[in-house]
Amino acid sequence: MVGASRIAERFNGLSVLGQSCVIVATATLGADLLTLIFYSIFFSDRLLLDLVLTSLIVVAVAGPLSYFFMGRSARLVELAAELDRANRLDDLTGLLNRRTFLLQSRQIVSDHADGKGAGMLLFIDADHFKAINDREGHAMGDAVLQEIGAALASSIGAGDIAGRLGGEEFVVLLVGAGEDTATLVCERLRRKVKAISAIVGMSGREVTVSIGVSKHQRGQSLDALLLAADRNLYLAKANGRDRIVKADGKLAAA
Ligand code: GH3
Ligand code: MG
Ligand code: MG
Repeated sequence: MVGASRIAERFNGLSVLGQSCVIVATATLGADLLTLIFYSIFFSDRLLLDLVLTSLIVVAVAGPLSYFFMGRSARLVELAAELDRANRLDDLTGLLNRRTFLLQSRQIVSDHADGKGAGMLLFIDADHFKAINDREGHAMGDAVLQEIGAALASSIGAGDIAGRLGGEEFVVLLVGAGEDTATLVCERLRRKVKAISAIVGMSGREVTVSIGVSKHQRGQSLDALLLAADRNLYLAKANGRDRIVKADGKLAAA
């Protein structure tokens, strides 16, 4: 069984032409073997000619057929990968979509139920985003969201996850991190977000975000963790936006 799956793996790794060649070669070998058995019993004088004829017929019939069907199969594999991507990722930013983020973070939180906590959660919301849409147009708003997504993706580590919850709201789980790492990531993110106006060509208006942070406590549910970060995000907004409110509910130095 292991041997068969390794063969299947190697076959899947070939190009459509390579796969077709393997199929045609296998079919030719099989047909020649049958010809050999049949003709060596009944018509041994014609054996060589019939072996050649059998090979030619199999190549002529199986060649185009296998190339066609392997091409369809490769396209199906591509489509399945596209569907999987569309199902898991947010199409505007390429970050995890809401469903996948919640699914993955719920798993991480339950994996850390007994330890010292899953890490730090950041709830991020773009400030006065409606005004950007109103003044600069929806397309510019989309470009800003894409850049915020890129800034987020490049501000976190390989083991962390980031998602777009919806609209201009983003969320990050810094797995296994403590308060210092969270503050570092928040500062890095704020710096990158402030550079977005220049990147997208939006003059006279700085893009800013407010961030609420929460720290996962042993046994705490994901919903409670999200709620704690959301409360701190609310405080960041209430305190003038472009702010970070740490897990202890205190404003980080601006
Ligand atoms: P606050 O600082 O309080 O967060 O104000 P805000 O304007 O950012 O928040 P509000 O909830 O009033 O507006 C969010 C706006 O985000 C409204 C909506 O049109 C816009 N928005 C949501 N999704 C998208 C999107 O995919 N693309 C664009 N361009 N805009 C979006
Ligand atoms: Mg907002
Ligand atoms: Mg919002």
